[in-house]
Amino acid sequence: MARSFKTLDDMGDVAGKRVLVRTDLNVPMADGKVSDDTRLRAAAPTIAELSDKGAVVLVLAHFGRPKGKPDPTMSLAQVTQPLTQVLGREVRFVDWDSAPDAVANLSPGDIALIENTRFHAGEEQNATDVIDMIASLGEFYVNDAFSAAHRAHASTEGVAHRLPAFAGRQMEAELDALEKALGNPGHPVAAVVGGAKVSTKLDVLKHLVGRVDHLVIGGGMANTFLAARGVDVGKSLCEHELVPTAEAIFEAAERADCTIHLPYDVVVAKEFAADPPSLRTCNVHEVAPDEMILDIGPSATEALGDVLKTCRTLVWNGPLGAFETRPFDTATMALARTAAALTREGSLVSVAGGGDTVAALNQAGVSDDMTFVSTAGGAFLEWMQGKELPGVAALSREHLAR
Ligand code: ADP
Ligand code: MG
Repeated sequence: MARSFKTLDDMGDVAGKRVLVRTDLNVPMADGKVSDDTRLRAAAPTIAELSDKGAVVLVLAHFGRPKGKPDPTMSLAQVTQPLTQVLGREVRFVDWDSAPDAVANLSPGDIALIENTRFHAGEEQNATDVIDMIASLGEFYVNDAFSAAHRAHASTEGVAHRLPAFAGRQMEAELDALEKALGNPGHPVAAVVGGAKVSTKLDVLKHLVGRVDHLVIGGGMANTFLAARGVDVGKSLCEHELVPTAEAIFEAAERADCTIHLPYDVVVAKEFAADPPSLRTCNVHEVAPDEMILDIGPSATEALGDVLKTCRTLVWNGPLGAFETRPFDTATMALARTAAALTREGSLVSVAGGGDTVAALNQAGVSDDMTFVSTAGGAFLEWMQGKELPGVAALSREHLAR
């Protein structure tokens, strides 16, 4: 695939060179310990590869929101030991004051974790002095933090214009997967969008109708679209003020030859609780005034499976029901298993992302069977809206031609 960005393969000989690597080490902590090391494991391959090639690896990351000044509770010092463990090699911690001297004294293959980039006010402002200061530490720049690429900060965007810039392995995998899913996908393409509210994903829906062949709407946001079709959704979560917007999306879909799929049966209850006594499945036209729609029904789930069998590509964001509470996880779990099975068989390229969607895939135990699961949160959603991500744009070849 012709890529618009350079990767570690394009760096040439990095032995003895100082390479700045922007990673995402913003790991959750509990009782002073890293409670989920997913991000450390994701950052490890690029760091290890550069170290193996003899580079002096200077790891950059932000940690929490220290608001532009040093805050010991948000020091990356506390991530040094966990990163050492995940990498299985020594990582030394370097604070900002000693960085220039410390960096000069490192040897080929050494790995240093530099203090929280957000200790500088100029980081989030993408200020020239901070860009210059960071760039002066290294000779090459590698961005391996797709999840921070929707922000134009000094360490995610500015430095890319000062030094030869490359995508790390994690960034490369994410960009390749997203390109396969929406940039240049195999058709037919299905997008499944769920979650609680239309208002949080309006731009996603607007962008997708022009790009995909099938748009399947589930979760709480389907209720607003059902209401736009004249369905009485009872006590369901529904943004009635967005009915005109939903109508506009129907029209845009019609013009773009995109089929919108709404559920025709649903799972309802009078109270939102696990296994409530009032639980029942009904046609969308039979929801009582005191009932809430909490999942799409079995016929709708089966129809969704049939659509996916005809498709070559799936992009998925947002659960189909209130999946945290049983049995309203049923449709979401079924979709996860169907997508995973079709991907294993080789008939579907499946890309999914979003905090709750990732949790749902883990709950179904099928994350590893999908083509790609993005843990990038906000950056993934901005990409689904068709926005250009500044951190990615800064890596593109045109920007680098200078
Ligand atoms: P993601 O984090 O994957 O982008 P969202 O945050 O948009 O997903 O949506 C997930 C939330 O939507 C979950 O908390 C889920 O309970 C809720 N949800 C899904 N369907 C419904 C529904 N029918 N009624 C109420 N909440 C729902
Ligand atoms: Mg969420």
